[in-house]
Amino acid sequence: MATKRILTGMRPTGALHLGHYVGALKQWLALQDEYECFFLIADVQALTTHVDRPRVIEESVREVVLDWLGVGLDPTKPNVCFVLQSSLPELTELTAYFTMLVPFTKMEHNPTIRAELKDLKKSATAGFMIYPISQAADILLFSPYPPEKSDKLLVPVGEDQVPHLEETNQIARRFNALYGKTFLECKPEVGEIGRLPGVDGKSKMSKSLGNAIQLKDGPDTVSKLVSKMFTDPKKLHRDDPGHPQRCPVYLYHRAFSTSQMFRGRATKCKTGRLGCVECKKELADILNNFLEPIRTRRAEAEKAPLDTYLRQGTEKAREIGQNMMKVIRHAMHLDYPSVKSSLTKGG
Ligand code: SF4
Repeated sequence: MATKRILTGMRPTGALHLGHYVGALKQWLALQDEYECFFLIADVQALTTHVDRPRVIEESVREVVLDWLGVGLDPTKPNVCFVLQSSLPELTELTAYFTMLVPFTKMEHNPTIRAELKDLKKSATAGFMIYPISQAADILLFSPYPPEKSDKLLVPVGEDQVPHLEETNQIARRFNALYGKTFLECKPEVGEIGRLPGVDGKSKMSKSLGNAIQLKDGPDTVSKLVSKMFTDPKKLHRDDPGHPQRCPVYLYHRAFSTSQMFRGRATKCKTGRLGCVECKKELADILNNFLEPIRTRRAEAEKAPLDTYLRQGTEKAREIGQNMMKVIRHAMHLDYPSVKSSLTKGG
């Protein structure tokens, strides 16, 4: 039977927000019944930006698990695993091997790395520069083996991560060419709305930029944040013709309204039959209705055995990872059976 597997993850650097939902979680939810899912809490990758704030990472692991449970991911299903990246040493080993397959200059030319470098206040560490390689290890460690044509390795990502997946597939192709067919190429799955802007209209929603609506935010906070949202600057009065395609509020409506509620909004905005104050009030109601069940499930999840979910998921991932590393070491002639067997025995 074909293996259909998902490997995807999030960095634990704070509670999750609507951008995470639109860019990733919505797809994860749709796929969790159909695929074997490994949802990675990328705490090692979080060090690329938070090496001086390890407590933030530690506390955020819990926040991320609560948010995942809040949106409806279900680690009690046998096919759904929550995995803690730092508990898989196989990932570190595979990253080391993959660094040998990528020219260093390639990292500097990766468009996502270049964009993120601009946001970094301090100079980037070597670990930051090679994080797309460690992401490739995260993904390819879970490549179904031996790779069959009908197998699938799907990676639901935000659109900014697509260049990293091309990098991953280049590594897979290079490895396969050098050492024999080992890895399947992964397939990106980008949501209908690749990226949700922040409430300030900036292209990226981020807690650190202070422009995020978090999944756990209460109704008053959500209404307040929406009321301050950036809109079309040319529409100052209700009857001014608006340009919804340039308005983040409109994009949020597209992401969270039912088709019935969304229908006709652009025309009303353009013809001056809808004002921004009213449009934002409606959006706040829509978002609060959407978030209410998430808040309830998140509060219930406070009593759930979060550590057990993480331990069980990580154990299953580790078993797959250990088996895959045997295959990889053998393919690379790094298994030295006569040496390693005596080391294991202590002889
Ligand atoms: S009416 Fe709505 S869609 Fe149109 S500019 Fe104002 S907030 Fe944006």
